[in-house]
Amino acid sequence: MPANINLSSRLLKQLSTELEVFLHTIGETAARQGQNIYLVGGAVRDLLLGLSPIDIDLVVEGNAIALAKSIPLSRMKITVHQAFGTANIKWNHISIDLATARSEIYSQPGVLPEVTPSNINRDLFRRDFSINAMAISLHRDSFGELIDPYRGMSDVKNRCIRVLHEKSFVDDATRIWRAIRYEQRLKFKIETGTLQLLKRDINMLDTISGDRIRHEIEIILKEKEPEKVFCRADELRVLAKLSPALTGVEWLKEKYSEARVMGLSDVSLVTVYLGLLVYSLNTNELAAIVAYLRLKRTMTQVLKNTIDLKGKICALNTPSLPNSEVYFVLDGYLELAVITNLIATDITAIEKHIENYLTKLRHVKLRLNGNDLKRMGVPQGPDINRLLHLLHAAKLNGKVITKQGETRLVYNWLREREAKKKQ
Ligand code: ATP
Repeated sequence: MPANINLSSRLLKQLSTELEVFLHTIGETAARQGQNIYLVGGAVRDLLLGLSPIDIDLVVEGNAIALAKSIPLSRMKITVHQAFGTANIKWNHISIDLATARSEIYSQPGVLPEVTPSNINRDLFRRDFSINAMAISLHRDSFGELIDPYRGMSDVKNRCIRVLHEKSFVDDATRIWRAIRYEQRLKFKIETGTLQLLKRDINMLDTISGDRIRHEIEIILKEKEPEKVFCRADELRVLAKLSPALTGVEWLKEKYSEARVMGLSDVSLVTVYLGLLVYSLNTNELAAIVAYLRLKRTMTQVLKNTIDLKGKICALNTPSLPNSEVYFVLDGYLELAVITNLIATDITAIEKHIENYLTKLRHVKLRLNGNDLKRMGVPQGPDINRLLHLLHAAKLNGKVITKQGETRLVYNWLREREAKKKQ
């Protein structure tokens, strides 16, 4: 291990002045209390990669909550989690998580570990990969010094993902998904030995609760290019652990790119991504994955709607279909389910009809309502809805445009009705 690499010049260059002030202040405060404090995890990795870190995690050899409360900065907002011995500090534009150094013992695969207060080296040993198991000292006497007991810096240089010990995936198989996510995001490679362990321990994913797997999937869906993670997971037979029917996802590469250019909000994009991921499933397979991951109700509704509509859109495979028929196939489906089907289909006629529906048809509204019809002499009962439907179809098909046009159509209908009665 290189003994005394100092990264303070990188810290100065890559961190905002605000963050730098904060790190110096907390380092000073900790030193005064006889505690050591470190920047850890992904932030150190990202600094070594020349990236600006997004999440700032600090570890203190001492008491994180007491330290957080004694930082001499004004306008800090501190949220404390007593049970975990952690604190979150919001100061100006920055958010920092502060934890007490700890070691972890896994009594059984997949369950959450037993935790005891510890020192930085043991805290780093509990981490997933060498690239995430480095720390930078913030103590005033050693500010910027890299602590790298597991060759993380060399793995960053060689661009590889490596676990710290051979039971890593057994202890916590969520690391299998994490390894694939980092590999694809950072354009690294899972190191050969780690890849063998990953393949050996794939079934350990069965020891993880659906909630924890969902959490990993949610993080993946927020990546810039989640399709890469899913394709690699498919290749490694990890994706099939979500649902045996979920294979052959290469097509997502094109479809996720299409989804990204649609100008959707972040939340909608994640929903559409998930809809595309499960698009090949049937209703029962979807129900199984929804139950396993315990997806929220709103998400579940969109996914069910998406798969239902998949079974119906073949009705749109006629280029000359009247607008009203397009409308009545798609009406009632959630917008994101319609959008997901639009992206999923490769049939031009269907695409055109769905686009027409989304941009125009669904906004076509009648000027007359049921009460207007009653006032005009249409008898109360099923005729009202039938006539409204007829009017709506005529309007969608451009047969009527104005309110007078709608009114004329109603009077025509009434006249024809009278004529039929007389016959
Ligand atoms: P990013 O946020 O860029 O994805 P990160 O490294 O900040 O990366 P987090 O999920 O916020 O990732 O986790 C913070 C740190 O906690 C990681 O760097 C890693 O050291 C550790 N960690 C997180 N999850 C695990 C896990 N399942 N097993 C071991 N260590 C973990």
